[in-house]
Amino acid sequence: MKVYIETMGCQMNRLDSELVAASLRAAGHEMVADRGAAEVVLYNTCSVRQHAEEKVYSRIGGARRQKANRGPRPILGVLGCMAQREGEQLIRRFGRVDIVCGPGQLARLPELIAAAAAGEKAVALDPDALEARREKMKTDHRGTEIQRVEEGDWLRSGTPLAVPTNVGIPAATDIDDFDSLDMAREIPPDGWPSNQAYVRVMKGCDNFCTYCIVPLVRGPELSRRPVRIVQEIRRLVDAGVTEVTLLGQAVNRYRWSDGARTVRFSDLLADVADVPHLRRLRFVTSHPLDFTDDILHVMAGRANICQYIHLPPQSGADAVLGRMNRKYTRSQYDELVARARQIVPGVVLAGDFIVGFPGETEADHEASADLIRKSGFKNSFVFKYSPRPGTAAAKNMPDDVPDEVKRRRNNELLAVQEQVGLAHHRSYIGTTAEVLVEGQSVRAGKQGFEPSAERTQLVGRTMGDHIVHFLGPQSLTGQYVRVRIAEATSLALRGEMEEETISRGGRGELGAGFARK
Ligand code: SAM
Ligand code: SF4
Repeated sequence: MKVYIETMGCQMNRLDSELVAASLRAAGHEMVADRGAAEVVLYNTCSVRQHAEEKVYSRIGGARRQKANRGPRPILGVLGCMAQREGEQLIRRFGRVDIVCGPGQLARLPELIAAAAAGEKAVALDPDALEARREKMKTDHRGTEIQRVEEGDWLRSGTPLAVPTNVGIPAATDIDDFDSLDMAREIPPDGWPSNQAYVRVMKGCDNFCTYCIVPLVRGPELSRRPVRIVQEIRRLVDAGVTEVTLLGQAVNRYRWSDGARTVRFSDLLADVADVPHLRRLRFVTSHPLDFTDDILHVMAGRANICQYIHLPPQSGADAVLGRMNRKYTRSQYDELVARARQIVPGVVLAGDFIVGFPGETEADHEASADLIRKSGFKNSFVFKYSPRPGTAAAKNMPDDVPDEVKRRRNNELLAVQEQVGLAHHRSYIGTTAEVLVEGQSVRAGKQGFEPSAERTQLVGRTMGDHIVHFLGPQSLTGQYVRVRIAEATSLALRGEMEEETISRGGRGELGAGFARK
């Protein structure tokens, strides 16, 4: 069948969609880029904020209108975090939905599509995530809620669906099989245009930050066998990939043990960095609590590990960090930043912040602004707190910061970050950067000349994750070039490509991806 997938949310979802596409192709389906031409439409969804879920509802609503307008209707599937959170409820609310598949069950999609094609409603949810949710409820001492969850949180009305579902098919959560999709990964038909690939090293999260839905939809933390990760990366590199990003919700908590040997995240980083011909190794996202010095030393000692850490503080105020259950204080975060800068000179840092968390005062907000001012962050993502059903914050803490205050605080943090980001980026003016070309910039055509294959606006990234714009031929996509940095904004650099392209890269050649002239 012709299948269309739209992906919302984080890098993990983008990787999930790529793996799903590969498994569907292997099962004989064809992936199409045009939703109108598809016989199966899949939305891979995000649940992290309310806004992300609203986007899915509007897509499903659009599909209903599409059905009214056109001939045979496509099979409609909702995948990922929101599917796991809402479960069968989605089918009850939107009869139009045929497939509901949680992020831990994606390997079963070919089977679910076949069931839907035969007229069934097909639902597959991750029992591990449900278990995590139950356990969380227990530790929250909310007896009544435990009861409600054990009856099936999504079956709130208590009436069974009028349609048969295949809920309860045994799940593929075997300790050595949860990465079956990753291991079966195939080269996409048009490869990886910019030779960059994501690789999952673990699934789930056990941190239970009080605002966060992830542990409840992606289930408990489970690390992949290191040998399988290295094997997958060797295959990717053999297929032409030169930059790999290791993915995990709190990637630095990676830990695998067979009793005799324990592999920490720093060990895994070192093993992966040794894969021959891997030019760049990145990882996201890191939790400050588990960012131990062994990781910093491996970063400092390997030329192909990018000196970039996405290290979300979430808040600069101890009271808020405590209520968020982040398990570190402001001064511990500051000490970590200082250690990172000392052990990995030139390291580039980026952050995430939540504004308007329950009980956040003006003084707490100012503490976050202060953290940004002192951080030297390249960039920060700032989010307005969004209560997520089932999380400890949504249950136990009133959402008491008015929306207009959240909006103001959001704008204020972004304004502080803009100043910090500008100073950060300006410090690279006059240097030469090694840039992996990601392709034509969305700005192409807006620069006062007609872009051509030989000369267009290109965009790429340095080892420090800086975005760099420059002019060049589109054929450079996926190549490493040197760019002399001439201008900076708060979010990006601009420069001129030096004639010669780089044949070998890494810090061995250009320091931290930059060289001073
Ligand atoms: N695992 C990562 C971590 O711990 O940093 C990121 C998880 S989440 C997908 C990405 C970001 O979304 C978080 O860093 C946080 O700033 C934000 N976020 C998560 N839950 C949120 C909520 N309920 N409301 C607003 N922002 C939220
Ligand atoms: Fe969510 Fe916290 Fe886990 Fe990140 S570390 S996924 S914010 S619970």
